[in-house]
This record gives sequence, C-alpha cells and structure tokens, in this order.
Amino acid sequence: MAQKNLILLGPPGAGKGTQAKVLSEKLGLPHVSTGDMLREAVREGTELGLKAKAVMDAGQLVSDELLTGIVKERLSKKDCAGGFILDGYPRNLSQAAILDEILKSLGKEAARAVELEVPDEAIVTRLSQRRSCPKCGAVYNLATNPPAKEGLCDKCGTALVQRDDDKESVIRQRLLVYHEKTAPLSDHFRKQGRLLAVDGSKKPEAVLADLMKAVG
Ligand code: AMP
Repeated sequence: MAQKNLILLGPPGAGKGTQAKVLSEKLGLPHVSTGDMLREAVREGTELGLKAKAVMDAGQLVSDELLTGIVKERLSKKDCAGGFILDGYPRNLSQAAILDEILKSLGKEAARAVELEVPDEAIVTRLSQRRSCPKCGAVYNLATNPPAKEGLCDKCGTALVQRDDDKESVIRQRLLVYHEKTAPLSDHFRKQGRLLAVDGSKKPEAVLADLMKAVG
C-alpha cells in the first residue's frame, strides 16, 4: 500500500493543528507536530526544552540541528509505517532537504505537501483568540469555537491557557518569520509537483472536506 506521507503547510494560525488532529483520526495516521513536541519538552524541562524556550517565546525558529533528531526518531516509530501528518515541519528550505534525507534513510517515500492558504489579516485575529488546554491539547477559539464553560476545557475540565507566543507582538514576529523562511517552501514543493493548495479561510468543516478530497 502507498504511504500517505503528508506535510501540512501554512502560516501560524492557518488551522494546521486543528485540521491535522481530525485528519489523523479520519485517515488513521499519526499527527506529528514539532511545535507540540517542543512545548512538551519545555513543560518537562528537558535539555531540548531549555534550549528552545527563549527562541519560541520570541517567535523565532529553533535551530535545525535541535529538530532533526526528534523528527527522525518520531518518524521511525512503527505507527508512521503507513504514513504521517507532519505539522510545523519543515519550516524552511534546509529542513525540507533534511526531511527528504530522513525519509530516504528510513526507506520511506517522499512526502507530499498540502498548503492551507489564509490571508495575514485573518491570522492575527484568529491567533489572539486561540486558547488551548495544557493537559489534553484541545484547541479553542473564543470567537468561532468557544468552550461550553468559559475558560475550561470541554474534554477534561482543565483551565485553558493562551500560548505565550500567541500574544499580538509575538504573532506579528511569527508572521514575519513565516514569510521570510517558510513561505518559500510552497514554491519549492510546487516546482517538484508535490504541492496541493486548499483555501484555509473557510469554516473548519469545509476546509476538512477540501483536505480529504485533496489527500484522500
Ligand atoms: P507551532 O506550534 O508549529 O506554531 O510552533 C511553535 C514554535 O515552535 C515556533 O514558533 C518555533 O519557535 C518552534 N518550532 C516548531 N516547529 C519548528 C521547526 N520545524 N523549526 C524551528 N522551530 C520550530
């Protein structure tokens, strides 16, 4: 059976995490989020977490070297045999080359990229209204998808938090970094015939339907 090795591309707040979680259930593929892995390392106070925290809080990219090991280790796990949904990696052209190498060294097929296209103006609004559950990872939006009880996670009742990097000044910095470092990946994958684009500004259910059509 062909592997479904997928990369979700798009600016911060495009809905990659939200869509990846649902796609992961529907397609039976693991959701591999480097942002989630780094936040877990920060919470646990590991060496990686200690090195990454200040960089993340400033809205900058953690160095490629710190990411390569954790990505390779994760993709080599058994549950990635039939494919995976990568969210937040690669973030620049050098990581795209590193990913190709990792997949080759693991005997896997090259990954296809699916881009969620969302204009910048929508991003700042979306991200400043995002809240997430520090315990189970559920994500809410105060305007479009609020929790049933204010401030509490519907799934586990934990108090919701705003990510440190979802404050407006950091959001703007992350968008700058996105346009400079990550956006060139669209052209890179398009030239290689490995890019599909989906309108990410629609309602989440409509985006999911388009994504399923694109990768199904
Ligand atoms: P995310 O949850 O994908 O928005 O990632 C949050 C933060 O983690 C980013 O702003 C970066 O500081 C860091 N990060 C996540 N993935 C990567 C990556 N592939 N390369 C470098 N830094 C990353």
